[in-house]
Amino acid sequence: MKIIESISEMKNVRWGMDGPVGFVPTMGYLHEGHISLVQRAKKENASAVVSIYVNPTQFGPKEDLKKYPRDIPRDLAMLEKAGTDVVFIPPDGDMYPTGYNTWVDLEKITERLEGAARPGHFRGVATVCNKLFNIVEPAKAYFGQKDAQQVLVIQKMVRELNMNLDIVVCPTVREPDGLAMSSRNTYLKPDERKAATVLYKSLQLAQKLYDSGERDAGKIRRQMTEFIQKESLAHIEYISIANVNTLDEQEKIAPPSLVSMVVRIGAPRLLDNIILK
Ligand code: AMP
Repeated sequence: MKIIESISEMKNVRWGMDGPVGFVPTMGYLHEGHISLVQRAKKENASAVVSIYVNPTQFGPKEDLKKYPRDIPRDLAMLEKAGTDVVFIPPDGDMYPTGYNTWVDLEKITERLEGAARPGHFRGVATVCNKLFNIVEPAKAYFGQKDAQQVLVIQKMVRELNMNLDIVVCPTVREPDGLAMSSRNTYLKPDERKAATVLYKSLQLAQKLYDSGERDAGKIRRQMTEFIQKESLAHIEYISIANVNTLDEQEKIAPPSLVSMVVRIGAPRLLDNIILK
């Protein structure tokens, strides 16, 4: 496994690599969710490249950029075991040199949900992914359904800018009790970790109501809210039931619908979602 720490070296190594190349962009502090993407990239391509980069431009001024968890030696051990060919760890000065001024800004779809809660977040995400795609030149890039809006933003950017790669969406990997794996779960104290199971349980409640014929999104949202409010450590930021492509909120569910949510458990914001089909 090669470890590369500059853009110029990554471009050089890329020329010698067997294609097609599968690419998994990450911010590190890896878990089984990330590894599932790497394994899929490895299976479907001749080579797998994984980037580890905590992208400063997707964090707001009051967000957790500085304390975002990092453990490169542990990440490298996990990536080696998963059969990664190249790990790309670019420095900030290489990615955003002094005077850097070029941004990818998607309209509308980035104004809702996570975009509304985190102004500028998707500008940072789209820009860094565009840069990484240009550097790594993958045939396919792998993203997790856990970040459903991010998937939509990246797919739209690739489509609308006629970029030469496919985006592959992989299912959310969960802990045995249903909590979606996330690097930020490490922020949870033991009692908060227990409380965090309300997210997936409330999504399962939505699925159950839908399966029994309920199509009134307001009723489903209300029952999810009541369920979550029984957990005193949980604070709902939003629960959305929306068209899976446009993210337009639905009053009456017309599948496939994305049920997505952010709940704060203590300080951490936890995200989760399911698709009603
Ligand atoms: P991050 O390091 O949080 O930026 O995540 C890197 C990639 O891993 C993104 O495409 C995420 O959607 C994906 N990912 C994060 N958590 C999970 C999970 N629990 N299951 C599947 N994919 C995930």
